[in-house]
Amino acid sequence: MNGPPQSSLTGLPCRGHNLDGMGKSKGQNARRAGRKVRVDFRANRNQPSRAKDWTRLHRDGQEIETSAVENVATKGDLSRKRTVIVSEDRTADGEHLVGTVIALRGQFAEVDDGQRVQLCTIRRVLRTRLIHQRAPVTVGDRVQFHPASDATGEGVIEKVEPRRSELIRFAGRREHVVAANIDQAMIVSSADLPPPKPHLIDRYIISALAGRMRPVVCMNKIDLDAGGQARQIAAMYASIGYGGICTSAASGEGIDAFREVFHGKSTVLAGQSGVGKSSLLNAVQPGLGLRVGDICEETAKGRHTTTTAQLLRLEIGAYVVDTPGVRSFDVTMIPAGQIEQFFEEFVPFIPDCKFADCTHRHETGCAVKQAVESGAIHPLRHESYTRLYDERFDVQSTMNR
Ligand code: GDP
Ligand code: ZN
Repeated sequence: MNGPPQSSLTGLPCRGHNLDGMGKSKGQNARRAGRKVRVDFRANRNQPSRAKDWTRLHRDGQEIETSAVENVATKGDLSRKRTVIVSEDRTADGEHLVGTVIALRGQFAEVDDGQRVQLCTIRRVLRTRLIHQRAPVTVGDRVQFHPASDATGEGVIEKVEPRRSELIRFAGRREHVVAANIDQAMIVSSADLPPPKPHLIDRYIISALAGRMRPVVCMNKIDLDAGGQARQIAAMYASIGYGGICTSAASGEGIDAFREVFHGKSTVLAGQSGVGKSSLLNAVQPGLGLRVGDICEETAKGRHTTTTAQLLRLEIGAYVVDTPGVRSFDVTMIPAGQIEQFFEEFVPFIPDCKFADCTHRHETGCAVKQAVESGAIHPLRHESYTRLYDERFDVQSTMNR
């Protein structure tokens, strides 16, 4: 779903919300005196760099080259230098600002330091050093940068801090880091239209955990839960520690609890098309107009998808990842033998399995299966596990052929 074109600069202006650790500006009254430095010159640089012009580019429906990996791998267009002015007092003493990359535009990054959003290039030496990484700079990265001077309007990213987490999209065997340092994945399902699919929810949970994000399950359209089945599923996830909030964007039920989950964190939304992700976000902040990535069971094969996301700042002091291209959180890259680790409530029982290499499906003396029988593990979760295990086994045997 593509909403109206929106630049994160013009679409959602900074209002000075400070999230934890964001925006360590050294003060806005810094001297404007400048120093000349040499930075990368991008050949064929015919795209205007002003926010209103990017908006125009979006509106015209042009594809903007956004793959950082491809950009750093390209030779030739990085080989020239040009001189820009950067603020003297922030470079001479080695001090940088710290900010969060909220969007990538070609070889530029939009960096939010909590005060304002600045357009930055990425220092050549940094690109070169990080060239073998999957994505040297991605949305959500915490970076140190020299701020832009008035003369150029561009800052320079000097350093990328280590990532806490990565949101990865798999396309075949290729991995794309869609976003970094996202705290949690809000996994939205619905009581009906479409009916809840715990197996699908579990796939999202695993990919969230694999990317070191906290999974939070939300059952929306709870106004349609006449039989109480969705509430039971929510309770199951709550007992494992994955939220389990029930909402209705239609009636307003649970919206306060939903909003509270976002507070002070960065969140990616996941869930099938039609479950109500846009409606929920609209209830949190009217007019957000997010292009939420719908999740399809099939992968993005054959479909053109962009690999970058955007961070949008909510008025409540939170970031939401806008992921137009993330259509599938594929978990097929996790080896079958490692799936058990991602069913966190299984883990305490595993040492008691009779066989060290127990797969918890049909072995005798399996402590996990016993826990299912005693009610300590929900049968739906065990069903998800065996299904994922079998799928993975099929995939791996196909790949080895
Ligand atoms: P998305 O594809 O996940 O972003 O879902 P949308 O937000 O576009 O919602 C899909 C449909 O479900 C729309 O027709 C909404 O009006 C409807 N919808 C969303 N939330 C609720 C809800 O809580 N209750 C009911 N009954 N319908 C809802
Ligand atoms: Zn076992």
